[in-house]
Amino acid sequence: MQNIILLGPPGSGKGTQATKLSEKLNLKKISTGDIIRDHISRGTELGLKVKSIVTSGGLVPDELIIELFECELENVQTGFVADGFPRTKRQAEQFDALIEANSFPYPIVFYLKVEQDNLIKRMAGRRTCSTCKKVFNVFFAPPKKENVCDFDGGELICRDDDKEEVVLNRFKVYESEIAPVLNFYNQKLITVDASKNLEDVFSQMFSHFNLV
Ligand code: AMP
Repeated sequence: MQNIILLGPPGSGKGTQATKLSEKLNLKKISTGDIIRDHISRGTELGLKVKSIVTSGGLVPDELIIELFECELENVQTGFVADGFPRTKRQAEQFDALIEANSFPYPIVFYLKVEQDNLIKRMAGRRTCSTCKKVFNVFFAPPKKENVCDFDGGELICRDDDKEEVVLNRFKVYESEIAPVLNFYNQKLITVDASKNLEDVFSQMFSHFNLV
């Protein structure tokens, strides 16, 4: 079993890299952001509870997120890639306890480092297919036809929380929470230069799997 945690600021490419790693290594991708968005779009009790927090760029309370993640761990078989979790020191501590309780091998922790200026463009340009959820970027990876998914012809949409004023708040929240999480993992962190293109970032990470 192989487990991976991806840490990094909003827009650093965690979601895309998590998908690639999960496909290549046959791991379950667990994206707390995707799970939350799914609850919001289905209008579940949880979705209704957290909608205003998410659309303003805030963080969902730790207890709720930890519970969601714990449920996802139940059917992990070959391992997982965690995208967007843990986001706070408390989540990281609880995550460690869950790993131990499930007798999972300790995850490899990658930190996708990118400067903030670069990220604003990445996020403001991000468009997601409303049906298959593939991600494009109008600046860096545009679809062949504007607003139409290359893969299934679905409509491309801008996430509510990728709108500019929300993006700025997400960065503020990230800045205030991430330092203790990075400190928590400290020696275990593998820093990746995530300002490079997708393939390059992926290779930087993938090279570590030949060594472990
Ligand atoms: P993401 O797609 O990872 O950027 O997550 C989108 C939004 O979902 C975040 O801005 C938070 O509101 C919420 N969210 C996702 N993961 C977490 C987490 N681990 N802790 C708290 N809130 C989260």
